Amino acid sequence: MKQRTVTQALKGQPTSDGAGVKLSRIFSPGQQLDPFLLLDEFNSDQAADYIGGFPPHPHRGFETVTYMLEGEMLHEDHLGNQGRLTSGSIQWMTAARGIIHSEMPQQVQGRMRGLQLWLNLPAAEKLKDPSYRDIPPEDIPVVAVTGGRVKVIAGRFVYGDAATPGAVTGISTDPLYLDISLEPGVAIEVPVTVGHTALVYVYEGTAVLGSHHVAAGRLAVLGDGEQMAIAADEQRTGLLLLAARPLGEPVVQYGPFVMNTMTEIEQALRDYRDGRLTA
Ligand code: FE
Repeated sequence: MKQRTVTQALKGQPTSDGAGVKLSRIFSPGQQLDPFLLLDEFNSDQAADYIGGFPPHPHRGFETVTYMLEGEMLHEDHLGNQGRLTSGSIQWMTAARGIIHSEMPQQVQGRMRGLQLWLNLPAAEKLKDPSYRDIPPEDIPVVAVTGGRVKVIAGRFVYGDAATPGAVTGISTDPLYLDISLEPGVAIEVPVTVGHTALVYVYEGTAVLGSHHVAAGRLAVLGDGEQMAIAADEQRTGLLLLAARPLGEPVVQYGPFVMNTMTEIEQALRDYRDGRLTA
């Protein structure tokens, strides 16, 4: 089995988004991690860092996947969907042709921590109908592994002879989204489809990936191969393993819109201005 290795390590950059929510931007479209577009982590126990939340704003052309680690937000969109993003839950929102939504904190104190991933859609699906899935923690399969556990958020996790389908399957980029938690010193080998872009984001502890030690807050970009050997350093380690089929299509991003051409971005801006983004 050909092992994947780390080809690049990225550190999040402090920024803010929404109504002044402080966050760490781990990567953005410029990094060309096709079909992944962006990863943000928000993590603060200071209400001033998150209380403004994300008031109503549009998206077109991709999917947003929000994973709450701690705290609670309320999601509402123009379709009338409403969902509570509680600790351990996933919100999988396919903006596609257009969605206008808000994500607002439901707490005035305590820690708010979560991750938002932007996953691109193929050109043929950028203008399809939007959809929304709110997945509570109890609906996310958890696989007990020796010295740890794996939450199978999307895709399929193979461990020994067992393959466990995740809470989300059937997405055309075939994403694998695992939350892996390992006790100190524990190692695991995770099969990853050959040819898929694969990333490891460490949110707790330090992961040992081949000869690389990747600390919390850092992202490792993996080279190609059939599997990834991951170990926890001397502390308990939590990380996300993300993989998906690259689209190989041009990416033009302008704020919350991600299309294939500038003309399509201009159309999105016109549609939003004229109230037709979601029509
Ligand atoms: Fe949003």
